[in-house]
Amino acid sequence: MAKNVAIDGPAGAGKSTIAKAIAKEMGYVYVDTGAMYRAMALYFLQNKIAKDDEEKIASVVDDIMVSIKYQEGVQHVILNGEDVTGLIRTEEVGNMASATSVYGCVRTKLVKLQQELAKTTDVIMDGRDIGTVVLPNADPKIFLTASVECRAKRRYDELLAKGQEADFDKIAKDIEERDYRDSHRENSPLRQAEDAILVDSSDMTIDEVVNKIISYIK
Ligand code: C5P
Repeated sequence: MAKNVAIDGPAGAGKSTIAKAIAKEMGYVYVDTGAMYRAMALYFLQNKIAKDDEEKIASVVDDIMVSIKYQEGVQHVILNGEDVTGLIRTEEVGNMASATSVYGCVRTKLVKLQQELAKTTDVIMDGRDIGTVVLPNADPKIFLTASVECRAKRRYDELLAKGQEADFDKIAKDIEERDYRDSHRENSPLRQAEDAILVDSSDMTIDEVVNKIISYIK
C-alpha cells in the first residue's frame, strides 16, 4: 500500500514549503490540493462567474478538467489543457478559491482526484481536509498552524521580496476572513483530525518544523 502523509492547517502556516522539503527528503510526491481549488477558481474568474452563484458553478463543474503533472519533481496544475501554475498564486485567485471551495460540487470533484493520486503513490498531501476527509488513513496526520500575525508577516515579506506591493493590515484581515470561512463552512470545514499531531510553527524555523515532522513520519 502507498504511504500517505497529511498536512492540514490554515492559510499561510507554511504547509507547502514544509511539505515540499519533506517530500524531497523522504522521496514522497508532494500534492498541493489548494492549487486544485485555485485552478477551479481561476476558471470561475476567467468566465466571470460570481462566487455566490452556486447554481451556475454547479452547472459548469463538469466542463472543468483539472489535473496535475510533475516536471522535475515540481507540481504543475493543468486547467482544461493549459498549464496555469503561474496564474493561480494571486490574492484574487486565493480569495475566490476560498469562497468557492465551500460548494459540495467543487469538493466532490477534487477529493476524488486527490484520492486517486494517493492510492498508488507515496504522497505528502497538504490542504484543509486531508486528514479528516480525503485520506482518513494517512499516517501521520499533521495539523500545522501559526498565529495570524506571524502568517501575515510571512506573506507580507514574501510579496515585498517579489517586488510587489503589500499592505500588512489588509493581508492580516484577509487571512482572518479566510480562516473563518475555511473553518465555518458546512462542507469539510478546516479542523484538526482527532488523531492529528498539532505543530505550531510561530516560533520555529522551517528546518525545525521539517525535522520535527520527519521524526513523526519515521
Ligand atoms: O492552500 P491554498 O491557500 O492554496 O488554498 C486556497 C483555498 O482553497 C483555501 O482558502 C481553502 O478554502 C481551499 N482549500 C480547501 N481544501 C483543500 C485545500 C484548499 O478548501 N484541501
